[in-house]
Amino acid sequence: MQFAERLNNVETSAIRELFKLLGKPGIISFAGGFPDSAMFDVAGIRAATEAALTEEAGGALQYGATEGYQPLREQLAALMSAKGVTGVAPTDLLVTTGSQQALDLLGKTMISPGDKVIVEGPTFLATIQCFRLYGAEVISAPIDDHGVDVEQLEKLIAEHKPKLVYLIPTFGNPSGATLSLERRRKVLELAVKYQTLVVEDDPYGDLYFDAAPPPSLLALSFEVPGSREWLAHCGSLSKVLSPGLRIGWLVAPAELRDRAVMCKQFSDAHTSTFAQATAAQYLRAGHMPATLAKVRAVYAERARAMGAALQRELGDAVSFVAPQGGLFLWVKLTGARGQLQDANVLAQRAIAQGVAFVPGAPFFAQNPDVSTFRLSFATADVAKIEDGIARLGQALRAQA
Ligand code: PMP
Repeated sequence: MQFAERLNNVETSAIRELFKLLGKPGIISFAGGFPDSAMFDVAGIRAATEAALTEEAGGALQYGATEGYQPLREQLAALMSAKGVTGVAPTDLLVTTGSQQALDLLGKTMISPGDKVIVEGPTFLATIQCFRLYGAEVISAPIDDHGVDVEQLEKLIAEHKPKLVYLIPTFGNPSGATLSLERRRKVLELAVKYQTLVVEDDPYGDLYFDAAPPPSLLALSFEVPGSREWLAHCGSLSKVLSPGLRIGWLVAPAELRDRAVMCKQFSDAHTSTFAQATAAQYLRAGHMPATLAKVRAVYAERARAMGAALQRELGDAVSFVAPQGGLFLWVKLTGARGQLQDANVLAQRAIAQGVAFVPGAPFFAQNPDVSTFRLSFATADVAKIEDGIARLGQALRAQA
């Protein structure tokens, strides 16, 4: 069969290949990007579903507006306003089928074949793939412990004149890194100076452990004149409530949002009204603060346990920054004292020891760093984390 040429721009993900191995019995997996299903507030969602069917079945089971179900748009706008985002009305917000769809709509509306886009190195693999599917040349900007290096970013923007710059400023996937406040301001200034769209992907911002992270770019955009016109923000209920509901949203300048609505219309008409009505009922019932508190406490404990176990079991063979939120711990093999420095080799040996993680290389659009890898601390409990990291230590010391 003759498939569309655009498919030649993407390969099946190396990560997907690895996931095939995870079915092996007894494997402790730190590989997934999932929240822990034990965290789902089943009772709250059941009550919300019941309320949606009792109070608004006519809306919840019917076709709806492409822009989103109005009661949910209201709840999401309120959620954002509670986090310091001012001036976003419910009608400014497009409900999407997961934030993944928002990224796809951005690709569809903004990228023509041959256009350049800048992402962080490393970044969310599905974004790289999605933008490449639209024919983008994906350029990688370096990051450090405080997120993207803004000086390098400015150089790359000036050189490549990208269609957009895609960032995960808070608890990045896979890096776990959070962009400093000072750099956030600078990014917004760059958006205005170079008239370049900045996309803020923010599915993890609520998952902080102790102190709240700096305000989102969207919240800060009201301080940097003109930046709101060059900023798109993607939100999601996936990591805190449920990815199965597939509720995300996009806030973008009006002319971009209108085009995204048009594309969505031809794609899925609208996000499931039933899921939207359920999510709206859940938020209206006021369950979110308790859910967030629980999820933050559990993930914080697991993140700390994983950090401590890594130090204990792998010592100077690895370096990492203790995560302050999110789901991921990003590790670098230091190669100290001649120890293994290739995460692909470690991943193979780890599977043999019954533990899985994702090597870092596929997360780089350019210049992959093979000494890196991603561990998710979200889905295993503390005992499994300690067991799994001990196995990782054995894998590191195992002979090739
Ligand atoms: N962006 C990032 C950075 C992610 O890690 C994910 C989920 N892994 C998504 C977007 C997509 O999430 P969803 O479509 O479930 O909202």
